[in-house]
Amino acid sequence: MSKVAIYPGTFDPITNGHIDIITRSLRIFDEVIVAVAPSKKKEPFFTVAERIKLIEQSISKLKGARAASFDNLLMNYAEETGSIAVVRGLRAVSDFEYELQMALMNRRLNANIETVFMMPDQEYIFLSSTIVKEVLSFGGSVKGLVPQAVEKAINKKIYR
Ligand code: ADP
Repeated sequence: MSKVAIYPGTFDPITNGHIDIITRSLRIFDEVIVAVAPSKKKEPFFTVAERIKLIEQSISKLKGARAASFDNLLMNYAEETGSIAVVRGLRAVSDFEYELQMALMNRRLNANIETVFMMPDQEYIFLSSTIVKEVLSFGGSVKGLVPQAVEKAINKKIYR
């Protein structure tokens, strides 16, 4: 039976740090669903449809990965999709407390689905979607930090 994992997040937008985690997950799982949540913030930079399109363009070469969106409870969505695990990325210690809280709550909601944490390459330890948007809004370069499709899409939004 194929092993499916779900990698949830805002992905506003997807960065090379996320790609690194997806690539690592595919070494363990047969299928990884990159699941886009609407947003915790009121106004995301990209709409859910735009974020999905950018993810699809960025993961086209990663066999087994696909993008989807969800707006219900993560653990319900994970169960619906037959996922056996939730994948999350851990960068610095600052990620830990929030991730631990989420993982324990998710386990309480469904003890059959494990949360698996993965560390990205050191290169991406300080990378976040937020910092990418900030640098770009001031005209800085994010070359090598986001997939090409994302760089183009952000520039188009800022400078159109
Ligand atoms: P969320 O709003 O749920 O944190 P994000 O899109 O910011 O959504 O991140 C999704 C997941 O990817 C989270 O587990 C986050 O810790 C992880 N992540 C984000 N950026 C990186 C990165 N540079 N390296 C590794 N993991 C990352």
